[in-house]
Amino acid sequence: MLNPPLSLLSDDLLAYLVTTVANLPFEQENLGNLSLADRAFTQSCQKYIFRELGLSNTKKVSKMLKNLKEVLDDKPKFANHVRLVELANETAWLFNDPTFTSIFSLLANSPIPPHTLLFGEFLGNSLKIDDPILVVRWLTRSFFSQTLTVLHLSDCQNMPLPIFLICPRLREVILDNVGTTEKSYVKYPDELCSGRESPSPAVLQYRNSHSLVKELITPPPRFKTPVVLWSNLRILTVAPHDKEALPYLQPILDAVCNTLEELYLTDLDRFECRSKQVLLAGLVNLSNISNLRAFAIFASIDCNKRRNAPCLAVVHDINTVLGTIPKANKITNLSFEVDIIGGRSFSGCLDQDWVGMFGEIIRISDGKHLELELVMSVSTNHLGVDKEGQLYMGITNKSASLSDHPEICVHIWNPTFWDRGVGPFPRGQVCGRCRR
Ligand SMILES: [Zn+2]
Repeated sequence: MLNPPLSLLSDDLLAYLVTTVANLPFEQENLGNLSLADRAFTQSCQKYIFRELGLSNTKKVSKMLKNLKEVLDDKPKFANHVRLVELANETAWLFNDPTFTSIFSLLANSPIPPHTLLFGEFLGNSLKIDDPILVVRWLTRSFFSQTLTVLHLSDCQNMPLPIFLICPRLREVILDNVGTTEKSYVKYPDELCSGRESPSPAVLQYRNSHSLVKELITPPPRFKTPVVLWSNLRILTVAPHDKEALPYLQPILDAVCNTLEELYLTDLDRFECRSKQVLLAGLVNLSNISNLRAFAIFASIDCNKRRNAPCLAVVHDINTVLGTIPKANKITNLSFEVDIIGGRSFSGCLDQDWVGMFGEIIRISDGKHLELELVMSVSTNHLGVDKEGQLYMGITNKSASLSDHPEICVHIWNPTFWDRGVGPFPRGQVCGRCRR
């Protein structure tokens, strides 16, 4: 039994403690320990311990399934806690494995069967699905056809388009380094390509996945109806350095012009830590996105150029995109994150059209309340802390015009703020309206 003061806490507060532990790093180990520490914690901990079923590592997966089966034979109710299933590309063989099948039928009978599917390489060993038709057919016949709301696809070269048609309730789609090799889908049975209700996701995030995004926008003729409907998309996140995928952004923007509320060009490339800046003017036009509330962008300014060579006009390019936002707009949040790369000097960075950028922000605000975030950081520090500090100060000083606009709530951050214990703002999130 618990001793005071823990024994004096309500069940709600004990459950809150467990939720907090579940959201910290090393949660599985900590939840296991907490669950054993006192019976008062055990039930709430089990809810999180069994929340995810990951079948990624092919070497250990058979043994892991046998152990799990033993646990579930003893306590079948634990299956009711599973909400997320993670399957590796090469795990199609599982669909004929009796242990896996019996565990999955327990999940199917849960009052709330899993609704999130992570499919891809993850901790597996292969970038390819052995038998994509089998995988799609199996998923389509599983409980996922009724329950799937979140589909996260990662690191796979031959993702089949019909995977999006598994469930019409799909709400969130994440594509990370996923491609497709199939062009015609003639080998796919009819029932996987047509006659199925198209999902209408509210959230889409993609990077390094242009071949699949291309098929999502314009499916091959084998698909008689759209693979996804764009009519409910509210949040779109794209990698601004994904040169091959950016041309597909505007067709999506045109399709979601009445529903899109948040656009984040902030997703960074996992494979190249310092990606080349892509100029967005001509690729992104926000003039028709009538309900856009939040717009965020990540950009790099590379000052490592040959002597006298001009620095890429990155801020001017951002201003051109901002310039497409009409005066009558619903924007409440603008967020800019700038990575400055300077080897010999920061020349060309301070000369960028910062004044023009703050001018655009004032124009977009048009007298209404606006939360503005500007994060700047130097990712090469050969030039010393003082020079960096001067650069941050120089850029900040260019925002002087904002002082005449109290309706614009300005949040500026640079790495010198660490000294005061203040970290940068979370990327890809809208900050709430400040009370001041
Ligand atoms: Zn604020």
